[in-house]
Amino acid sequence: MEFPTKRRLTRPVFIGPVKVGGDAPISVQSMTTTDTRDVNKTTAQIQSLARAGCEIVRVTVNSREAAQALPAIKASSPIPIIADIHFDHTLALMSVKNGVDGLRINPGNIGSQQKIHEVVQAAKSKNIPIRIGVNAGSLEREFLRKHGRTPEAMVESALRHIALLEKEGFYQIKVSLKASDVSRTVLAYRLLAQKVSYPFHIGVTEAGTLFSGTIRSAIGLGILLSEGIGDTLRVSLSADPVEEVKVAYTILRDLGLRHRGVEMIACPTCGRAEIDVISLATRVERRLLSLKTPLKVAVMGCVVNGPGEAQEADVGVAGGKHTGLLFRKGKIIQRLPPDDLEEPLIEEIRSLTGETIP
Ligand code: SF4
Repeated sequence: MEFPTKRRLTRPVFIGPVKVGGDAPISVQSMTTTDTRDVNKTTAQIQSLARAGCEIVRVTVNSREAAQALPAIKASSPIPIIADIHFDHTLALMSVKNGVDGLRINPGNIGSQQKIHEVVQAAKSKNIPIRIGVNAGSLEREFLRKHGRTPEAMVESALRHIALLEKEGFYQIKVSLKASDVSRTVLAYRLLAQKVSYPFHIGVTEAGTLFSGTIRSAIGLGILLSEGIGDTLRVSLSADPVEEVKVAYTILRDLGLRHRGVEMIACPTCGRAEIDVISLATRVERRLLSLKTPLKVAVMGCVVNGPGEAQEADVGVAGGKHTGLLFRKGKIIQRLPPDDLEEPLIEEIRSLTGETIP
């Protein structure tokens, strides 16, 4: 059984080679937390994000120096880059010239129609899309006066930005409508979904720390995705952005929408547990972060119930007082010393997938 029963029909755009919308898989994106002027640090973070499965990355372009760093960042990035720009249209023009694959800029915030015209012409010349990113925290006064800080105000703001681009004959548009709470985010996307067919970048903004943000994002994105809304997503966390990618894939996998990499199954442990399940499962999960083959891996606390409880796992280990077990699909394939479960498990996964594991 998979979600959603019916996906919202959207007109696709391309961010470099990545199709967003239409029948494309829901893509995972993140944003660097480095100073974009620091090419080495930014590039290193993009590479770790790409290894974790990130498919599109956004970098902030908040100065001319940041825009000047883009060609070097782009040259060593394995994934397409979106320049995130606020207000200053000259930074958008520089970013396009310097090879970005997409822009995030709100046309209503950059000033005159002439400036919008210049940005649109630049985007058209390179055939790159523009994302309009409406944020409940920074809505225009006219919409706040009319509706308050509501989903209706967010949608009206989005429609105004969209109209400014359409006036220039530009339709390669993506839209996001983010609020820091789940209900406004969901209601706003539902409302806009009835009005336009542009693809949506979904997310709950400023979702919070790894723990609370993961839960908030899972609820918000889970509701939207289960209704067929959302073409690309970012999980926003106050954490290493690699965590955002891990959470994104976990949400998509649990909804049956993407199948990439490892799905960890770890028992909750109980009085029977013979090993430290939490630390072993955490170490194994970390080592398998860049695995591409979809695989269910189990770490179970005891040999009595472990293999049976993790029957669905492709491969797993169970701890024991004198002997541990390596099992596949619930069947025991090897007995092991109880303090040496990690390496045989990793070795088994290497031979199952043919992938390199650190
Ligand atoms: S696998 Fe064993 S240790 Fe883990 S919860 Fe089940 S019975 Fe308890």
